[in-house]
Amino acid sequence: MTSKCPVCTSSKYRKISENLLLCPRCRIIYNASHLPAIYSTDYFGQEYQAQYGKTYEDDFESIYTASLFRLSIIKKYLRENLSSKSLLDIGCALGFFCKAARDTGFGEVEGLEISEYAASYCRHKYNIPVHSTGFEDFIPVRKYDVITAWFVLEHFSDPYAMFVKIYEMLEVYGIFACTLPSYFGPLFYCHRKEWVRSHPQDHRIDVAPWSIKKLLQQIGFSNIRCFPSGYHPERFGTIAQKYKKLYNTLANLLCFSDTILVIASKKPQ
Ligand SMILES: [Zn+2]
Repeated sequence: MTSKCPVCTSSKYRKISENLLLCPRCRIIYNASHLPAIYSTDYFGQEYQAQYGKTYEDDFESIYTASLFRLSIIKKYLRENLSSKSLLDIGCALGFFCKAARDTGFGEVEGLEISEYAASYCRHKYNIPVHSTGFEDFIPVRKYDVITAWFVLEHFSDPYAMFVKIYEMLEVYGIFACTLPSYFGPLFYCHRKEWVRSHPQDHRIDVAPWSIKKLLQQIGFSNIRCFPSGYHPERFGTIAQKYKKLYNTLANLLCFSDTILVIASKKPQ
């Protein structure tokens, strides 16, 4: 167990549970007993099915719809037409987001995926190039206008280094967008025991809107904005369920959600 913050290296912490520690300096929660996941060929098949009730491939429609929503936010950040833009999706899985990006009009789309099965699915089904490697080992040979990472960065042992790597791989005025687990949400605040119990062993960090903004600013990003990535009034309680609209409005205003979408841009130094 390493009780040192993986973001700011401070060894001070407040215990949330035995292994989950809140860094008072950067206000990120980190998992001191982090175990990186091993992605077997089966990860997108039976393992995914056991967790979500269907295989990743069967989940195409909902993932594609979510991808279009994420792309609508990214498009607002881009200055020129999409056909001249390049996009890299880190941890692209079977390539559904890559397909949505290409359908939306991105000129060059690439994926990066550690699972050989998933990478080859994307290459053959959508004719989209995929780098078959983990992001830690990836040696970039070019820069990108947009880099995305959907529920990927919380898995790395050294997430800070991965954020820095993404920043360096972006063109000036490039856009970075990702989703991350956030502790500023109903699960952490209203069901703390359940949050601790269900915390995945392979998640290294949980952020909050204020902590991820600070982290990205430190690296050099600007125009940083956070949005809720899911609405779960039922996790807040019966009153929130009764007043769903009001709950969603407040969730939007405060970015109160168990998962958040973060978007930022790289300005010239
Ligand atoms: Zn810290």
